[in-house]
Amino acid sequence: MKYNRILLKLSGEALMGEQQYGIDAVRLMQYAEEIKAVAATGTQVAVVIGGGNIFRGVQAAAFGLDRVQGDYMGMLATVINSMALQSALEKLDVSTRLLSGLTIQQVCEPYLRRRAMRHLEKGRVVIFGAGIGSPYFTTDSAASLRAIEIEADVVLKGTRVDGIYTADPEKDPTAVRYPEITFEEVMAKNLNVMDMTAFTLCKENNLPIIVFDMNKTGNLQRLLEGDTVGTLVTM
Ligand code: UDP
Repeated sequence: MKYNRILLKLSGEALMGEQQYGIDAVRLMQYAEEIKAVAATGTQVAVVIGGGNIFRGVQAAAFGLDRVQGDYMGMLATVINSMALQSALEKLDVSTRLLSGLTIQQVCEPYLRRRAMRHLEKGRVVIFGAGIGSPYFTTDSAASLRAIEIEADVVLKGTRVDGIYTADPEKDPTAVRYPEITFEEVMAKNLNVMDMTAFTLCKENNLPIIVFDMNKTGNLQRLLEGDTVGTLVTM
């Protein structure tokens, strides 16, 4: 396999499937199957999952809520998604651990870097919940930070688009996909890959990012087998 240790970032929104809100059972099981398949090859897998299918901090104002409170609600949303994914994986007999950036001791272990590394070495799928545990961040930032901490070889950003395009492919039919691009080019062309905090963390720590379509069955495995899937961002 191309990478020994990966950090897979899944958006909460993708978990909705065709629904308007919450978790789609079929999509959830599909993700669990894909993760199981790559973990079975010996690749060490860590996962960060977003919370956008339930709540995002930026929505707080629309409810007349405080932003910081909203961000904590968003972090708790990621814990709900992480618990769902953990359960789906366990149903498939995949050994998993959920480590949270917020202490919720009845349902998850607190995030400790050393513990995360140990679980990965033992072949357990590690899910990082609650982002980094601080408001004003996103789960993309959590994915970058945790990936650096656990010395992952790559951040795999699973989205519903199959890579980075010259323009938004859902709006511009002439948009073309980059198979590879540098961090500098992404910045110069003002392309939207991750939020700036997350992107800068990867850039400064020379951590490659691959943006790919997670909803296409088998894509994750093909990518790890070395096929050109999605867009690779490197130095
Ligand atoms: N969040 C946060 N700190 C973090 C991670 C997440 O405050 O370290 C909050 C933030 O409000 C965010 C929400 O949790 O909007 C859900 O995460 P995100 O929007 O990244 O989810 P996604 O877009 O991937 O579904």
